[in-house]
Amino acid sequence: MDKQTIRDIDLKGKRVIIRVDFNVPQDDDLNITDTTRIEAALPTIKYILGQNASLILMSHLGRPKGKVVKKLSLEPVAKELTCLLDQEVRLVKDYINENIPGLHPGEVILLENLRFHSEEKANDPQFANKLADLADVYVDDAFGTAHRSHASTVGITKYLPAVSGFLIEKELDYLGQTLSHPKKPFVAIVGGSKISTKITVLESLLDKVDTLIIGGGMTYTFCKGEGWLIGDSLFEESYLEMAKGLIEKAKQKGVELLIPVDHMIADKFDNDARTKVVIGDIPDEFIGMDIGPKTIELINIKLKRAKTVLWNGPLGVFEMENFSKGTFSIAKTLGEIDAVTIVGGGDSVSAIKQSGVADKISHISTGGGAAIEFIEGKKLPGIEALNNKVE
Ligand code: AMP
Repeated sequence: MDKQTIRDIDLKGKRVIIRVDFNVPQDDDLNITDTTRIEAALPTIKYILGQNASLILMSHLGRPKGKVVKKLSLEPVAKELTCLLDQEVRLVKDYINENIPGLHPGEVILLENLRFHSEEKANDPQFANKLADLADVYVDDAFGTAHRSHASTVGITKYLPAVSGFLIEKELDYLGQTLSHPKKPFVAIVGGSKISTKITVLESLLDKVDTLIIGGGMTYTFCKGEGWLIGDSLFEESYLEMAKGLIEKAKQKGVELLIPVDHMIADKFDNDARTKVVIGDIPDEFIGMDIGPKTIELINIKLKRAKTVLWNGPLGVFEMENFSKGTFSIAKTLGEIDAVTIVGGGDSVSAIKQSGVADKISHISTGGGAAIEFIEGKKLPGIEALNNKVE
């Protein structure tokens, strides 16, 4: 990686401001239902504290749209951090007007939700400068927002030395290094609802993979492109030609493109719908909801031979139990194979966790959109803004 990390900079006794991703899920009583994102930031936090530095944490939570929204306060996160670090983490609400007194080495504060200020998303220079004034060094460890030019991801880097934390370092190692020089065979599985959001990543994967497996709602536009009937399944007519083009490009490049051969179909978009498995054509008034057993078998054969696997997006409507089999069997197989496995996207990561195989996966990416853009070869502004390594 050519970007500096916290290991490349002297942090001793410094005030360090770190952009983390504490955008955690909460229930109606504002209890945090999954603390993974907070725990994931701990290695970077502990390393910095180990340098006798003081720490200012900042994050967004939800979409308050530039207004103070009480239920999107980071207060519950400050409490959780206080427990996890076994030391007080004070939530600072008004860091714009409040004069934050000098922090002692080892002290940790958390700034209130950055997106309570419209200046954050607008990358307002004064707001960025104000954040920078609080510290001597900036650390970015929020890969999920690295594709956005916000005050806390890009603006602030104009005023402070800027390096990455361990989470971003790992993302760049896997999504950058590993995927540029993958051990072969390299198999990518791309699912999810729509071609429109995945077409660019599919195109760029054609230059890297040996096998590209399509699943999820976008399957049916590809099936249509191959001349199959698709009933009432999800269909993006304006992407039909692109889907056909991708099938053609895969042939030209010698990439094996695996489009589902059988489908679990339903007579309505409902878990309790009447279902059946069909090979090939989907009859009128039926919807393709999941990949079928033959496709699962074919995918498993490919995965067992693979040495690198990238998975992004569910293979069916996995939120409904009756259509979750494709997604969960792939998650289970990924936990069993002897390959470098990289999983990204909220739904696939959730399937991996629910299957209890998270600790068997080489890398679980924390950035959905950012990971896709990075794999597409786009430059992420939050990464570009970090200091380059000195030769
Ligand atoms: P995305 O956000 O594009 O990754 O899409 C995720 C969504 O795709 C999930 O909510 C799935 O329910 C949905 N999905 C997967 N397979 C299908 C399908 N066959 N028909 C409709 N939606 C699907």
